[in-house]
Amino acid sequence: MSKRYHLSIDAWNCSSPRLKDNYALDWFLRQVAGITNTKILNGPTVVNRGSGITGMTASLITDSSHIIIHTFPNSNEATIDLYSYEDLNHNEIREFITKYFDLDINSIKLVNVANEPDQFIQCEEPGCIRKATKVWGGRKVCSDHYDYYRDQELRPELYDDDIGA
Ligand SMILES: [Zn+2]
Repeated sequence: MSKRYHLSIDAWNCSSPRLKDNYALDWFLRQVAGITNTKILNGPTVVNRGSGITGMTASLITDSSHIIIHTFPNSNEATIDLYSYEDLNHNEIREFITKYFDLDINSIKLVNVANEPDQFIQCEEPGCIRKATKVWGGRKVCSDHYDYYRDQELRPELYDDDIGA
């Protein structure tokens, strides 16, 4: 079986008018395709579900992924399904979605649903689900967060309160 990556993303407490805006959802999917660096083959297709559990559903097929978003404006929720043959930058995807839908950082959850032959240890940074490969301050963190904290440590201007001690 070829390697694949699959993210299920839930967002809630979302009152953004973009949840029910055709053009905003079209643009959203194009941006995600850009972030994942893939070529659009079909879509975006945006439909208003109209009846039943009302809201919008939009989908996009690229040369290495599919992306689908379902929105539920009545309950201020959205779910996003992102399936790819290429590795995904979870932090970048989460940041973009958080900004675009004006979410609180604690109102979005990414779940990695791809089959992982070797279960890995997840980064302990809130909201981060990348593989933990290092330890910083006693916490297991991914290499991105390790670099982030190390860079902060190396910037002396952050330690002005120590000067003159
Ligand atoms: Zn991390």
